[in-house]
Amino acid sequence: MLIDTHCHLDFPDFDAERDAIIERARAAGVGQMITISTRVKKFDTILAIAENYANVFCSVGTHPHNADEELDIETDDLVRLSAHPKVVAIGEAGLDYFYDNAPRDAQAIGLRRHIAAARQTQLPLVIHSRSADQDMADILTEETGKGAFPFLLHCFSSGPELARIGVELGGYISFSGILTFPKSEELREIARTVPHDRMIVETDAPYLAPKPFRGKRNEPAYVAHTAQVLAETIGVSAEQIAAITTDNAFRVFSKMPRL
Ligand SMILES: [Zn+2]
Ligand SMILES: [Zn+2]
Repeated sequence: MLIDTHCHLDFPDFDAERDAIIERARAAGVGQMITISTRVKKFDTILAIAENYANVFCSVGTHPHNADEELDIETDDLVRLSAHPKVVAIGEAGLDYFYDNAPRDAQAIGLRRHIAAARQTQLPLVIHSRSADQDMADILTEETGKGAFPFLLHCFSSGPELARIGVELGGYISFSGILTFPKSEELREIARTVPHDRMIVETDAPYLAPKPFRGKRNEPAYVAHTAQVLAETIGVSAEQIAAITTDNAFRVFSKMPRL
C-alpha cells in the first residue's frame, strides 16, 4: 500500500469526479491520502471532503501564496481547528520566493505561527519551500531551538543543504512527480542521501503529474509512479519502497490511523 501524503482534492479540477478519483487511487494501491489546506477560510470545504471518505484525511493551514490574506489567523485558531479527528497535520505553510505571491514578511509570520501550532499539537507541519533555502534553513534551525516540532519538506525541490539540515533537525523529505522528470538528476542525487526512514511520497495533485503523465492533470493514483522512480533511485524494490514510505508516513502523520 502507498499513501499520497499531499494532494488538493478540494480544487475545482476534481469537482466532477471526486468519487472516481478516490476509487482509482484505491485500485492503484493508494490506500490513504491527505488533502492539504491552502486557506483556513476554506477549511470547511476540505473538512467536508475528509469527512465524506473514510480513507481521506486533511490538514489545516495557509499556503504562503495566501499568507497576506490570512494574517488574522492566529496560532490558537490553527490549534483549535486541528482538534478534529480527521485533521492530521498543520499547513501547508512556508516560503515561496519563486512566485512571491505574498510579501515575504507575511509568509514568514504565517510560517512561524504554523510552527508554533505544530509544536503545541505535535502534529506535523507540512512545509512548502521554494527558492527560499537559506531563510527556510535559518527559521527551522531557530524555531527547533525553541522546542521540537514534527515537520516535512513537501514536494522537495530545494538544494542538498536544505535537505541535509531538514533531516538533521528531525524532519522528513517528501518526493513528488518532480523526481521523475529527466532534468531532476540533482534531486535524485539528493534522494540517495536521505535516510530511508525519512522519505515519503506525494502527488501534490492536481499539479506536477509524474512521468508518463507529465503536463496532464495529476491525481493520487499516480503517486505509484513517483514511488517507482524513488525505488529505482535508491536501489530497492517496489515492495520495499511501499513499505518504507508507508511506515514513514504513519510515523510522521502519527494521528492518522492505519485503516
Ligand atoms: Zn506546496
Ligand atoms: Zn500543495
